[in-house]
Order: sequence, then structure tokens, then C-alpha cells
Amino acid sequence: MVNESGIGYGTIAHDGSGIGSDANAVAPLPLAGGAGGGSMETPTPSRKREGNTRQLVLDALSGVMDPEIPTLSVLDLGMITNVEVEDGTAHVRFLPTFVACPATSYIKSNIAKALMEAGFTSIQVDLETEMSWTSDRISEHGRKLLEEFGLGAPVQIDGTLNFEQIEHVACPYCGSENTELRSMFGSTLCRSIHYCMDCKQSFERFKPL
Ligand SMILES: [Zn+2]
Repeated sequence: MVNESGIGYGTIAHDGSGIGSDANAVAPLPLAGGAGGGSMETPTPSRKREGNTRQLVLDALSGVMDPEIPTLSVLDLGMITNVEVEDGTAHVRFLPTFVACPATSYIKSNIAKALMEAGFTSIQVDLETEMSWTSDRISEHGRKLLEEFGLGAPVQIDGTLNFEQIEHVACPYCGSENTELRSMFGSTLCRSIHYCMDCKQSFERFKPL
């Protein structure tokens, strides 16, 4: 069901989510040629190597999932606003989806953990404070995954949000728009609960923000 080639950091290039200038870096870089063999060489911080290293960061981040929607990575959700590798330190700027989300510090430590597993010993994860997250930041790939997860992708809101947009959603099971909002808060703060009048099932939505 999931197209392999659509997975991973490659997709972030399409959504303009601010991951820097690698707009052309769609194809995953193969791990450095010598990775399998004699990889004990001393890392030389050449330009090229820095680029590969940054790719390693993105690769690691593509495996950091949102605890609430475990099929979506922090990249799919548009939660990463900047990635840099400087003097061997991996810098990641992280934008929480929902300010009140209790998962924020959990995700932050998962990012650090993933980067450690990727071989970084010096890691800095900063909270992005210059902007706020909106559901428009979710990548196209992320939206597809949300549909598959049965949550439905939040509508694109272009900065304004009114109650109508939260209330009027299509049922993910039968597609009917004959639904009603049951609760503004689902199993997590970031979700709302809806009920389909046609197929009589309740479902959750990832709230647009
Ligand atoms: Zn339905």
C-alpha cells in the first residue's frame, strides 16, 4: 500500500517545508562508498562529506515518528525547520505541531536518540520559536499517510481557521460528508472526534491548526 519510492526524506523536497536548499536532493544519497568496508578512516570535514553528513541527519529524522500518529515522521509532519552539520555537530530545529502537545519533549529526545544512533556524538536540538506550526506544513506524502491511517488529512487553511473547517469533514470510512463533530478533543489534544451519520462510525481527525 505504501509506495517504497515515496518514503523518506526525498519527499520533503516537494513540499517546500523549509529544509534548506537541497531542493534537488530527491534521490536518497547512497551511504558513503566505503561505509560497508573499511569505514574506520578518520572523518575529514570536507565540503562533500558535510553534505553527506547532512543527508545522514535527514535519514535519521525520517525514522523519528510522531508518537500520536506512528506512521508519520517528523519530516512528514513538517516539524523540522532547519538541519545543519557544523564541525561535527548536528543542529536540528524542531517545531512542535501543537504547543500544548505533551509529546514535545518526547519527540525532542527521540530526535537526539536517532542522531546518536546515526553516529553523531554532538547533537543540538533547538525548539523553533520564530514560527508556529500549521497543518499546511504536512507534506504531500504525510497527507497520504494520514489518509491511510484513517485520520484524514487536515484541510489546507492558509492561515485562517474557523470552526466550520473543524466541524465539516468527510468520513474516512465511507466518504460521506454527513458527519457531526462530537468532541473538540479526541484521544489526544491534537485530534477531534466525529461521527458519521451514514455508516454510524465515529472517527478521529487530526485537527487543522
Ligand atoms: Zn461514514
